Amino acid sequence: MNIHEYQAKALLHEFGVPISRGVPVLRLQDAEAAAKQLPGPVWVVKSQIHAGGRGKGKFKEERAGDKGGVRIAKSVAEAVEFAKQMLGSTLVTIQTGPAGKQVNRLYIEEGSDIDKEFYLSILVDRETSEVSFVVSTEGGVNIEDVAHNTPEKIVTFSVDPATGIMPHHGRTVAKALNLTSGLAKQAEKLVAQLYTAFVARDLAMLEINPLVVTKQGELRVLDAKVAFDDNALFRHPEAAVALRDLTEEDAKEVEASNYDLNYVTLDGTIGCMVNGAGLAMATMDIIKLYGMEPANFLDVGGGATVEKVAAAFKIITADPNVKGILVNIFGGIMKCDVIAEGVVAAVKQVGLKVPLVVRLEGTNVEQGKRIVRESGLNVLPADNLDDAAQKIVNAVKGG
Ligand code: GDP
Ligand code: MG
Repeated sequence: MNIHEYQAKALLHEFGVPISRGVPVLRLQDAEAAAKQLPGPVWVVKSQIHAGGRGKGKFKEERAGDKGGVRIAKSVAEAVEFAKQMLGSTLVTIQTGPAGKQVNRLYIEEGSDIDKEFYLSILVDRETSEVSFVVSTEGGVNIEDVAHNTPEKIVTFSVDPATGIMPHHGRTVAKALNLTSGLAKQAEKLVAQLYTAFVARDLAMLEINPLVVTKQGELRVLDAKVAFDDNALFRHPEAAVALRDLTEEDAKEVEASNYDLNYVTLDGTIGCMVNGAGLAMATMDIIKLYGMEPANFLDVGGGATVEKVAAAFKIITADPNVKGILVNIFGGIMKCDVIAEGVVAAVKQVGLKVPLVVRLEGTNVEQGKRIVRESGLNVLPADNLDDAAQKIVNAVKGG
C-alpha cells in the first residue's frame, strides 16, 4: 500500500525524523488558513498523488499553468492561487503514464533553503533477505538515471537483522554523502530513525529524494515515499484504514479486494479467471504464446463461493479493454460447479458481450460442465489449457 508524501512525513516525524513544517489541504477553502499557519517568507505547494516526478510534471488543464506539480510561492496569496490551479487538475509525470492523476490533495510546506540534495532509500533486498540502504550524493534527480550513467555514485549496504542498525551504518551513510562533524552526527541519528521506522511499520520501501542539507546546516527530509508491505498490513490496521487513499488505486483492484480476490489489472485484452497463482501465471504465459496479452491476473483462490466468483467475473466483464474471457479452473479444493454457478449468475446479471472460453477440470467437473451447458450461455468449451488459449485467441481475432 502506497501513501501520500504528507502522510509519509508525519509517519517519519513520529520517529524523530526532521521534516519541514507543513499542512495538508483537502479543500480549496482551507488553503489560505493552511498557508497562514506557516511563517514564510516562502511556501512550497505540493501536489499529493501516488507518483513521483511531480516537480517536473505537467498539468493537462491550461488553467493549472505550466509551473509543475511542486511550486514555490512568495506569499500566502500566491500559495492560494497555486492551490486553486492545482486542486482538481490532472498532473502527468514520468511515473503516472499519459493519463496522469487528478490532484485531490495538496501539502503546503514551509520552504527550505537548500544547499545540497541527496538520495536515500531503504528497501527489502530479497536476495540477502535483509533491509538495504541505497545512498547517493545525486539527489533530486531520477535515481535510475544515476544508476545508469554514474553507478559509482551510488552506495548500497544491507543491515544484518541479528544486530539491527549500528553506528557504523550511520557513518557509512555520512561518508557516502561527504558529511563531516555536526552533519555526520545528524546523518547517523537519521539513519537509525529511518531504519527503526522501516522495521516498526513493516515498510516495503522508503525513498527520500531529496534528502537535503539546508543553508542553515540541517539535514532534512524534503520528499518521502513510503510503501507498506501489504502482507504485514494486518499488523497495522490503523494505518490500513486511515492512510489508504482509494482514489489513487485501480477501481477494479479495490472492488476485488472487497471480495478478498487476488486481482491485478494488466494491459492486455484477454480477461482471465483462474484458481491458483501458478495456474494463473501459466494461463497468462500461454495467452502470450498464442500472440495476445492478458488483461488481468486473477486467482479466485481455493475456498471461493458462488458470490465471490460472480463478483470476480463482473470485475472482468466491466473492463472495456477485455475483448475475450478465459476461465481456466483446475478444481481441487475449488469445485468446478461453484465456478460454473458463479459465472452463470454473473452473466445473467450483467450480460456477456465478448467471447467466453471455459475449461474445467478436476473436482465436480461433470456438474460444472452440465451447469454451463444447461445455462444456454454462448460458451466455447475447451478440453485442456492449450486448446482453451487457442480458442479464446482465435475467437477474439475472428470477432
Ligand atoms: P517530486 O518532483 O515528485 O520528486 O517532488 P519533490 O518533493 O522531490 O520536489 C521536487 C523538487 O522541488 C525538489 O527536488 C526540490 O529541488 C524542490 N523543492 C521541494 N521543496 C523545496 C523547498 O522547500 N525549497 C526549495 N528551494 N526547493 C524545494
Ligand atoms: Mg522527489
